Amino acid sequence: MNASTGHAVVIAGGGPTGLMLAGELALAGVDVAIVERRASQELDGSRSRGLYPRTIEVLDQRGIADRFLIQGQVTQRAGFSGAFLDISDLPTRHNYVLALGQQRCEEILAGWVAELAVPTYREREVTGFAQDVTGVDVELSEGQWFRADYLVGCDGGRSLIRKAAGIEFPGWDPSINSLIAEVEMDEEPEWGLRYTDQGTQALGRLEDGKRVGVVVSELYAGQTGEPTLHDLSEALIAVWGTDYGAHSPTYISRFTDMTRQAASYRDRRVLLAGDAAHVHYPVGGQGLQIGVQDAVNLGWKLAQVISGTSREGLLDTYQAERHPVAARVLRTTMAQTALTRSDPRIEALRDTMAELLGLDEPRKWIAAMITGLDIHYDLGEGHPLLGRRVPDLDLVTAGGPVRLFTLLHQARPVLLNLGEPDGLDITPWADRVRLIDAGYAGPWELPVLGAVTAPAAVLIRPDGYVAWAGDPADPGLADALTTWFGPPAA
Ligand SMILES: Cc1cc2nc3c(=O)[nH]c(=O)nc-3n(C[C@H](O)[C@H](O)[C@H](O)COP(=O)(O)OP(=O)(O)OC[C@H]3O[C@@H](n4cnc5c(N)ncnc54)[C@H](O)[C@@H]3O)c2cc1C
Repeated sequence: MNASTGHAVVIAGGGPTGLMLAGELALAGVDVAIVERRASQELDGSRSRGLYPRTIEVLDQRGIADRFLIQGQVTQRAGFSGAFLDISDLPTRHNYVLALGQQRCEEILAGWVAELAVPTYREREVTGFAQDVTGVDVELSEGQWFRADYLVGCDGGRSLIRKAAGIEFPGWDPSINSLIAEVEMDEEPEWGLRYTDQGTQALGRLEDGKRVGVVVSELYAGQTGEPTLHDLSEALIAVWGTDYGAHSPTYISRFTDMTRQAASYRDRRVLLAGDAAHVHYPVGGQGLQIGVQDAVNLGWKLAQVISGTSREGLLDTYQAERHPVAARVLRTTMAQTALTRSDPRIEALRDTMAELLGLDEPRKWIAAMITGLDIHYDLGEGHPLLGRRVPDLDLVTAGGPVRLFTLLHQARPVLLNLGEPDGLDITPWADRVRLIDAGYAGPWELPVLGAVTAPAAVLIRPDGYVAWAGDPADPGLADALTTWFGPPAA
């Protein structure tokens, strides 16, 4: 080992999850650095094709949603197992899916992170680490190493951090191997979707009008190694009876429906987020969303532990809250994967699902789930808002009208007093929690639940989830402030 540098947090991996986490930590004033293998955010091949409403909301909470919105296309339909659901009546400002490729999303996030002056060590890899009671020695390629208080593995599905920490990754082996490619074809192919025993196959025209985007299953799961044009031709012939004269691939990549989740998201000073913690088939487009949202859940908690505001136990709530969210995504993704096959019985099931989703209640329920708007962290009994995302209300404050999400731009907790102005006193937490008197006369509507009673005050965590809601006289407020934002100052 040679030269050592110190950072409070080192993030292994600057994909969407690592970038979002870096931004969150930097906003909270933490000395954070990213170590990233790639020279830039360039991706060899397309991955996520867009952002879902809750992801757009969390970006809006930081004041950066517009950067994405101006570059993408919105559609008020979201896919579920071949059916397209109308999501226009979801109670959110962002009642649409934003079509925007992953590389563009990463570039925008990287721009934000750069503005926040986060150092990014590119073309370097984390190759190992050793942790002790006070910190982690993070080893990099070329013999460099960093000393950090915490190391977060945002290093993707094959996560070295997860493996080196000895964290188990139980789940299901692949049953589908798919190739995703961009090629030229001598003949006009049969455009669109085709269902086979192996899942959904697709041929689509790419923006340049010349190349073809291909998603095609291989006959046998478990193929390894770099896929070739020959592999692609074989797979095309197996499905369409011809490879349409495919040639000149700009990329060919393989992905599977392997479905696994880390048994633990934390081993002492080492944490996992994003694909490092959970992998699944891309059907339904959830991976990037839950990775970014893992980051938003973890960032403020880690920052508070590092600053000494909260005890280390706060980090346990990261796993308690985010593990069930990913477990549910894994389950519904497996269900959707099953529904992509072509067996006549599966087709009957798919038709039955489509009929069900034609009904309002099931549609709203599934729409709220796949868009991430119905996430409910189990914070115990209380007002229906407790543990749910706060809606982006149009408030009126002494300073004028303001959107609630604007109050979260600095990633700091907010206590919103909607009752008598000056009716609340949280002096012992005033150094950590912003108290804002505001007026709001409109309805409180939550996804799936519908209208809920207007609370007199709401304590909102930096990630936009409600830590407490009720009457200012409720002694539970002091408990919630202590639980989430540390003991009262003397
Ligand atoms: C074909 C396909 C289609 C998809 N479509 C969608 C979709 O429509 N919607 C959606 O939400 N999701 C989709 N996904 C999933 C999405 O791409 C992932 O969930 C997302 O990229 C996860 O982000 P991440 O930052 O956690 O991991 P990654 O994006 O994998 O980023 C990990 C980063 O870590 C770096 N790295 C790895 N190891 C090291 C190391 N040792 N040291 C330093 N750096 C390291 C890598 O270079 C990379 O930049 C799709 C995936 C695939 C394969």
